[in-house]
Amino acid sequence: MSRSSGVWVLGEQRNGTLHSVSHELLAWGRSLADDYSESTLDCVLVGHGVREGAEALIHHGADRVYCLDHPELAIYRTDSYAALLEALLRDYDPDILLAAATTMGRTLLPVLAARLHAGLTADCTGLRIDPDSKLLLQTRPAIGGNVMATIKTSYHRPQMATVRPKSKRSLHADPTRDGEIISVPVDASRLSSRVRRVGFAVDETMGSPIQDAELVIAGGRGLRTAKRFQTLFEIAERLGGVVGASRCAVDQGWAPYAHQVGLSGKSVSPATYVALGISGSPNHLAGMSSSDRIIAVNSDPEAAIFQVADVGIVADLSEFLPSWLERIQSLNGERAS
Ligand SMILES: Cc1cc2nc3c(=O)[nH]c(=O)nc-3n(C[C@H](O)[C@H](O)[C@H](O)COP(=O)(O)OP(=O)(O)OC[C@H]3O[C@@H](n4cnc5c(N)ncnc54)[C@H](O)[C@@H]3O)c2cc1C
Repeated sequence: MSRSSGVWVLGEQRNGTLHSVSHELLAWGRSLADDYSESTLDCVLVGHGVREGAEALIHHGADRVYCLDHPELAIYRTDSYAALLEALLRDYDPDILLAAATTMGRTLLPVLAARLHAGLTADCTGLRIDPDSKLLLQTRPAIGGNVMATIKTSYHRPQMATVRPKSKRSLHADPTRDGEIISVPVDASRLSSRVRRVGFAVDETMGSPIQDAELVIAGGRGLRTAKRFQTLFEIAERLGGVVGASRCAVDQGWAPYAHQVGLSGKSVSPATYVALGISGSPNHLAGMSSSDRIIAVNSDPEAAIFQVADVGIVADLSEFLPSWLERIQSLNGERAS
């Protein structure tokens, strides 16, 4: 195998179906590869029956996809995946390796980093190439989310990072895009695993469509009462959106944890994010600042949320919210008649 340096991303699949986070990773990888001496963007996909997924990865920005395809790899197991990937990475020696900060990425990359004696920055929300040193600048919230730290891996390769899902929009698929799909022979001796799968259960309590929504209407402590927060569910339903919440709102019991946006909640990147009575702490911004358009309503003109908002409205929510709902109701009434 010829050696190749450059930017690699680790695709993710379940039951042969590509996880949408793989496309987001390619969007990160593409922008880095373009800044990194116009390097190629390579992707590695491990699983079974992944050919279709590999083609989709090329349509979304990969130049080459290395497929490790074997029935034993259909289910993610840290030990066998790590053994195979370690061998591949040693052969190809990429400069940068990105994975999603999902259960798989969060368990697999630390093992790989230890085996390869490489650095790893977990849960990044920002990545870029330093134009002078060409090092990967890996940004993530630190010290309880009060600062954004930028970390470099100066001496070891690959420079490894896991990236928060929804921290970047996927590129549009281009079905005419060409690329190379390379089948990597699977060394059966590396397939043995100490893990036996006994079943798969979905945690229903964590279910919330918030991460895929195009409109998120989020409320914070500034809503002041559970009753006022409840209005958000009505507004969101009428507008075809979903409700998000700051941690304070969740702590108050106004919304379930599945709706929490931020460092210790979910990351979202909808077309429109409406922040109502949310101050804009770094911990909250970590989960929503990649939204296309941010509209903020706050009674404090100095609130930090206005620094990231595209549209800022200084208003008291005790007045703003009822009049907004009334306006939506009357518009719906006009449409119905
Ligand atoms: C490790 C760690 C992880 C964290 N993770 C998260 C996380 O995932 N998500 C998260 O959100 N937070 C998180 N936090 C908490 C975070 O630091 C903030 O405390 C929280 O985001 C603040 O929530 P808030 O904006 O609703 O409340 P506040 O900061 O109290 O802001 C309320 C806002 O409402 C405005 N307001 C008040 N009354 C009105 C009114 N009548 N009309 C209009 N506006 C009004 C105020 O001006 C203020 O700006 C985390 C903290 C830590 C330490």
